[in-house]
Amino acid sequence: MAELNLILLGPPGAGKGTQGERLASDQSLAYIVTGDILRAAVREGSDLGLKAKGFMDAGELVPDELVIDLILERVRRDDAADGFVLDGFPRNIAQGEALDAALAELGRDLNGVLLIDVADEEIVRRLSGRRVSASGRIYHLEFSPPQVEGKDDVDGSPLIQRDDDQPDTIRKRLGVYHEQTEPLVEYYESRGLLRRFDGTASVEEVEGHIRKTVSTLRLEDSI
Ligand code: AMP
Repeated sequence: MAELNLILLGPPGAGKGTQGERLASDQSLAYIVTGDILRAAVREGSDLGLKAKGFMDAGELVPDELVIDLILERVRRDDAADGFVLDGFPRNIAQGEALDAALAELGRDLNGVLLIDVADEEIVRRLSGRRVSASGRIYHLEFSPPQVEGKDDVDGSPLIQRDDDQPDTIRKRLGVYHEQTEPLVEYYESRGLLRRFDGTASVEEVEGHIRKTVSTLRLEDSI
């Protein structure tokens, strides 16, 4: 089967993580989550982590020179040879251009950019109730609470609120999204790559719509 190279675009809290995980496993694609890679670096206390932490806590983008090579190296790995789902990258036009250049060098193309759209007020409501476990499982106080309050369903470890999920930081992240990331919508739309999804529909509905679209992309690609 031909490779499938996809980008997930959308504001923080739109459901990219949930959908990306399902999509990547459903289609057997490498799932590359920039935020997770950066958070792991922060936990490990690596050089990159130490440099990235302040920007992340403040809800700002980590500088391109720290992020671009890191993600492109991941895209070039063998496990992404049959395709990938990129979540959280690119986040601005410079990153989009760097990705294009790297793919061109590899003789590969982007097949689609999936935009999951949700209005700002809904994002604030979603992210301020979000809680995560050390292993990365995601809960929501209102929409998907854990079985035991404050504890992970699988290993019982305490749930925490990400520093950048505090209301003020959420507003900052949304501002950064509109200013720096949203220009990518036009960037990809003008090349006919953009597909839009209503992120306020249920997780299952969004998943169904994405699956249908991706089957069509696969078909188009095989013609
Ligand atoms: P996320 O989990 O995708 O919301 O990412 C969390 C934080 O990691 C962001 O608020 C940024 O500080 C940083 N980050 C993630 N992806 C990128 C990227 N492509 N470029 C710069 N910073 C990023």
